[in-house]
Amino acid sequence: MDPLSVINNIHVECCMKTQSTIRYDVIREHVEKLFREFKLPLLCIPQITNFHDVPILNKNVEYIRVSEVMGNASEFQTLENVILNIHIYQLNEDDAIEEYQDDENLLTAHHWDLPARALDGLWDNLIFDENIKTRLLEYVFTTMLFSDRKVNTNIISWNRVVLLHGPPGTGKTTFCRAFAQKLSIRLADRYSHVKLFEINSHSLFSKWFSESGKLVQKLFQQIYELIEEEGSFVCVLIDEVESLTAVRKSALTGAEPSDAVRVVNAVLTQIDKLKQKNNVLILSTSNITEAIDIAFIDRADIKQYVGLPSRQAIYAILSSCIQELMKVGIIMKENLLDWSTVKLTNDFEDSNFRLYTISGKCLGMSGRTLRKMPFLAYARSIHSKNTTTFKNFLKALDETVIEESTSRNL
Ligand code: ADP
Repeated sequence: MDPLSVINNIHVECCMKTQSTIRYDVIREHVEKLFREFKLPLLCIPQITNFHDVPILNKNVEYIRVSEVMGNASEFQTLENVILNIHIYQLNEDDAIEEYQDDENLLTAHHWDLPARALDGLWDNLIFDENIKTRLLEYVFTTMLFSDRKVNTNIISWNRVVLLHGPPGTGKTTFCRAFAQKLSIRLADRYSHVKLFEINSHSLFSKWFSESGKLVQKLFQQIYELIEEEGSFVCVLIDEVESLTAVRKSALTGAEPSDAVRVVNAVLTQIDKLKQKNNVLILSTSNITEAIDIAFIDRADIKQYVGLPSRQAIYAILSSCIQELMKVGIIMKENLLDWSTVKLTNDFEDSNFRLYTISGKCLGMSGRTLRKMPFLAYARSIHSKNTTTFKNFLKALDETVIEESTSRNL
């Protein structure tokens, strides 16, 4: 068999129950044994919560997820010879900590200790057409390799700044949070404390301009304190960086020029200082590509466009919503076909084919809008307190999608 056609490397995420105090290496041994004995197409078992005949796992483990799989996962094969990367962790139950400016009631940032319960599952529920997830993971592992090997940064430079840009509602902010969470799981061997520090850009560039120079310094001071903690890795999220440019523009038109420029420069200077640290990653997003400050674009190592979902991605997003409704018993359980199978069917009576047709009508909608559609469909046409059929639900979904598209074109 062609060695590239089989799975050769998989990452398994094992989440411990909150109350469990057992040593991780004990669990690791059992998980390893469980996987070595599997003979299944791995994509069929994305999450395991029941470990029938392994009481120690049942007692201590909340779930095991098969995350990244390198190689062809649809092959049936035993996992005897694959490289198994087992990541064991416990979720942090605390909510985000909010930071306010002392004298004003102004929310300037919030931060999470990762991996956090609130961010669990986000990564798997984001569906992109391009392989953004792998690209970004590879990027971070490369920054680590280069730092570990002490590559001279005067010869080869990198900034630890990533920019995601594209239309609103396409999952950029959610991806940044999910990515930070993913890193906290994947880098647990290196870093014992991973944090996500989310800066509220609107407050930085709000009417408190004249104060903001100081505010910026204060905010970054907090980030420095987190970075200095032993074993820490900090992801800084700056959402909607285009607000930086808005500030410069207003400076050009004469509105409070010196203060505005001072704020922007303060942010850029702080970013330059941060990039000298190995244990920090700056994630930023923008909804308006053209409006991002060139000085910021120059600093980004990766500028990733995140576009509106294709028909295939739409189908996957809607399927995941329907799966959830089937799981909780709002829609009667039926078999949902995946994209590669459904696009070969042309049976107009088949519900999956209907969903495929509806997906075509959703082109142009963002992920955010799509995830609202099933709720609106239910509220609009299905008033039953009992479980509805898949067919009935799709009828309602179709009508809602048509209504939404028409109202957008008005
Ligand atoms: P943006 O930052 O691009 O404006 P968000 O991250 O705020 O978008 O997205 C809002 C929500 O929309 C997400 O939490 C998610 O539920 C849904 N969503 C957006 N894009 C996608 C996608 N590509 N796949 C799945 N869900 C998505």
